[in-house]
Amino acid sequence: MEEKQERRRRIVLIPAPAQGHISPMMQLARALHLKGFSITVAQTKFNYLKPSKDLADFQFITIPESLPASDLKNLGPVWFLLKLNKECEFSFKECLGQLLLQKQLIPEEEIACVIYDEFMYFAEAAAKEFNLPKVIFSTENATAFACRSAMCKLYAKDGLAPLKEGCGREEELVPELHPLRYKDLPTSAFAPVEASVEVFKSSCDKGTASAMIINTVRCLEISSLEWLQQELKIPIYPIGPLHMVSSAPPTSLLDENESCIDWLNKQKPSSVIYISLGSFTLLETKEVLEMASGLVSSNQHFLWVIRPGSILGSELTNEELLSMMEIPDRGYIVKWAPQKQVLAHSAVGAFWSHCGWNSTLESMGEGVPMICRPFTTDQKVNARYVECVWRVGVQVEGELKRGVVERAVKRLMVDEEGEEMKLRALSLKEKLKVSVLPGGSSHSSLDDLIKTL
Ligand code: UDP
Repeated sequence: MEEKQERRRRIVLIPAPAQGHISPMMQLARALHLKGFSITVAQTKFNYLKPSKDLADFQFITIPESLPASDLKNLGPVWFLLKLNKECEFSFKECLGQLLLQKQLIPEEEIACVIYDEFMYFAEAAAKEFNLPKVIFSTENATAFACRSAMCKLYAKDGLAPLKEGCGREEELVPELHPLRYKDLPTSAFAPVEASVEVFKSSCDKGTASAMIINTVRCLEISSLEWLQQELKIPIYPIGPLHMVSSAPPTSLLDENESCIDWLNKQKPSSVIYISLGSFTLLETKEVLEMASGLVSSNQHFLWVIRPGSILGSELTNEELLSMMEIPDRGYIVKWAPQKQVLAHSAVGAFWSHCGWNSTLESMGEGVPMICRPFTTDQKVNARYVECVWRVGVQVEGELKRGVVERAVKRLMVDEEGEEMKLRALSLKEKLKVSVLPGGSSHSSLDDLIKTL
């Protein structure tokens, strides 16, 4: 008897070209693949993930564009995104058209939908042209989305006034976004407010998308998720923390230095502060030196990630910095760490973080309290929530001085207050674990999404 062959359904995913966007998109890809979908990843030449044997199950295609390779670095992320979206709108249509032609030759397969990062909004027009269902993927959280939308509305109503640094309203609470202050809104350190608003206007517009997937958890931001649902009027699927949903393929764009795990193995439980500011934070040399002095005087052990090129105007190597600190046994500095492994290590007692959303979820997923030092955009929103809503960390504001660093480290690593934050962080960890298990909110949301797809 002839067996009826089931048609395989393929999903085309378009990540934004940044570490913090590629990783969750690949975690989503793995989760969908485990549910039986075939995966195509469409990337540009910028910050792209190289196909490897761990990613052999996925098809990778390149969206052609002719932007200079130096554009990302020279323009900064905001202007770059605006340019990239303009550049790719037409070329992605061609790319998708070709993919559909190829797929016609494989009758047992069809394209189920296109899932695009909210900042790669050029994909919407292409998918619309070919009548493919479109799903937005937000790698940030619902509160950050609400802030971006509020910024667009504020801009339309009052112009730039309340958003500009130095306008005198920085400490005021933003109406309806309590406990966020104007200074916590996701303005960029890389471009003027006008440019950010330009990007946000497009990324907040759902266009003809039929749903939104979001890497967050219901218990973390119920009211922002409800707001999002009402605002967009399409189904919202909060299915995070995605790194806890499925064992993700390796997605690091930089080489992870595993030797820091050997170093952590030699340290006492909860005795190390892990410091990492993500994939694109930049620091002034004087800030790094103040951090170093503060760490020395805190008397705590530390594992510090300093990416090459992340200290402005300095050629100082990690080895030179560590030797200047004159406490070789108390510290370890690497260019890039296997962060999830580090945060899961019993020797780590706290995380000094820029509060990128992935880092925040990874920290909360391991019950590690945080010292928040946001640098740009949604990191400021996340930091405020870590301190005032989830209460699993403290934010360091103002000028970074040795004494401020020492005090913040001691608050978390030595004081009773740190112990209380640790307990809250552990309880949050349990809630996040439950959310991705059968019956949990993210687990159910993923099931609902799969049914829709
Ligand atoms: N990361 C890492 N090793 C490091 C520093 C960061 O693997 O030494 C990873 C981290 O686990 C996270 C991502 O890089 O998944 C950074 O994303 P996030 O959203 O936290 O910040 P961004 O880099 O986008 O500012």
